[in-house]
Amino acid sequence: MSAPNASGWKPGTPVQDHNAMAGPDTVTGNRALMLEEPLIFEIGTTETTGVDLPEPQSGSNRLGGLDRSEKIGLPGLSEPETIRHYTRLSRQNYAIDLGLFPLGSCTMKHNPRLNEKVARMPGFADVHPLQPVDTVRGALEVVNELAHWLIELTGMHGVAMSPKAGAHGELCGILCIRAALEARGDAREVILVPESAHGTNPATAAFAGYRVEDIPANADGRVDLEALKARLGPDVAGVMITNPNTCGLFERDMKAISDAVHEAGGFVYCDGANFNAIVGKVRPGDLGVDAMHINLHKTFSTPHGGGGPGSGPVVLSEALSPYGPLPFTARTKDGVVHLVEEGNAAEFEHTKAFGRMTAFHGQMGMFTRALAYILSHGADGLRQVAEDAVLNANYILRSLEDVLHAPFGHSGPCMHEALFGDKGFAGDISTLDLAKALIDEGYHPMTMYFPLVVHGAMLVEPTETESKAALDQFIGALRSVAERAKAGDESLKTAPHYAPRRRLDETLAARKPILAWEEPNPPGGAPSMSEQGGR
Ligand SMILES: *Cc1c(COP(=O)(O)O)cnc(C)c1O
Repeated sequence: MSAPNASGWKPGTPVQDHNAMAGPDTVTGNRALMLEEPLIFEIGTTETTGVDLPEPQSGSNRLGGLDRSEKIGLPGLSEPETIRHYTRLSRQNYAIDLGLFPLGSCTMKHNPRLNEKVARMPGFADVHPLQPVDTVRGALEVVNELAHWLIELTGMHGVAMSPKAGAHGELCGILCIRAALEARGDAREVILVPESAHGTNPATAAFAGYRVEDIPANADGRVDLEALKARLGPDVAGVMITNPNTCGLFERDMKAISDAVHEAGGFVYCDGANFNAIVGKVRPGDLGVDAMHINLHKTFSTPHGGGGPGSGPVVLSEALSPYGPLPFTARTKDGVVHLVEEGNAAEFEHTKAFGRMTAFHGQMGMFTRALAYILSHGADGLRQVAEDAVLNANYILRSLEDVLHAPFGHSGPCMHEALFGDKGFAGDISTLDLAKALIDEGYHPMTMYFPLVVHGAMLVEPTETESKAALDQFIGALRSVAERAKAGDESLKTAPHYAPRRRLDETLAARKPILAWEEPNPPGGAPSMSEQGGR
């Protein structure tokens, strides 16, 4: 129990150099109900066990010489010790169920409990992908009905439901574009991506074998249409454009962009991660989009960020639908949406699918939740989701633009997220310092240093599920730290002051992670990591 862990901290010793305001150190290292937690290896020992098994009966050993020759080295903990360990760890997370989560572009909105109830119904929760089809008709009907509403809401022709995240959906969409080009014997090599694109866009295009070229933004933070038109040509396979874009602005020229790209023989991929700002108001199909992923875990409120897997269905235009991977869902001549699989692909004339993205249908648990969300909101409710998301973001933008620089504040209302820059901060105080100070105020920081087109960017997405009172409290906190940043308050440089671990070096942690625990000073062994200064 008293072995120092890799950071040198011992249970029962005070955590760190708390500042004076934080009060005296405690004997336990706990701070009120914020409980310290050692590694599981430091709680249990290899000498104890949490289970009580009878001694094996002597008999012949059937391990074929593969029996373990050393101790396994895992700590033994009783059931209550194990449960307390993981519960204490879980309490150290920030979560959407604890408070406002302003992470821009991530759409951290409330996950309605109705969705959870539906997802837990045994007919959905307990299905197995290899069950006979006749026993899962209802589950397939859910997939089909969700597909129908996604097609309806986006004004598109078909949808591949199986991609398992936004980035996976991007890959699916780009592979459809490649299949369509290959089918007409057209070997185009370039995908155009705006400067403000989410990092997954150029990564996807490069992964699919395309050369990525930037398109500049204009002073309004939108794609420069003339620059885009000037670059189009027979080598351009398509463009990837986020709309609303990552500056929180609607690309007003989207239709003109699509027309120009189509005229030049290319395809239009729209990154639909921000669909929550326009759902029920705008149909991407009407804007000439050929492929767009929808993050069910953003727009349609399914849990994410540690709470659940992603799901990124891709809606496709009539031009790209024939190449959509199996299983695929599309409108047929009768106007009805049908789920197409290997068995019935010929019947529905879907014979050019480029392949599959996943072994089975995708994230069933996310489909049930997203459909519950869509049906419980209805058309009017979904429209209000978009309107309230935009209203809340504009409330934050306008409430703070007198203390925080809003680079595109002049170009009209924002969509669902408010973007600020670090202009006006005193001395060497940075966006990072301000974000760390927000932790002291009890908030998960906003998205920082993205999009890259704004210096010291802070991207705040409140979502529609926050009340005015919650927004006012957040605005008050952000206003206060922004004022301190402008006044040159040096205490920001050492924030957070109230977090148990103070300021961590995330870059070092990401570049040189220490993922293995080493027993401190094993007899005759090498010195432990902390003695080597391994942190
Ligand atoms: C979240 C996001 C993505 C990627 O989606 P994942 O589900 O995280 O893979 C892509 N583009 C934008 C604009 C996003 O916000």
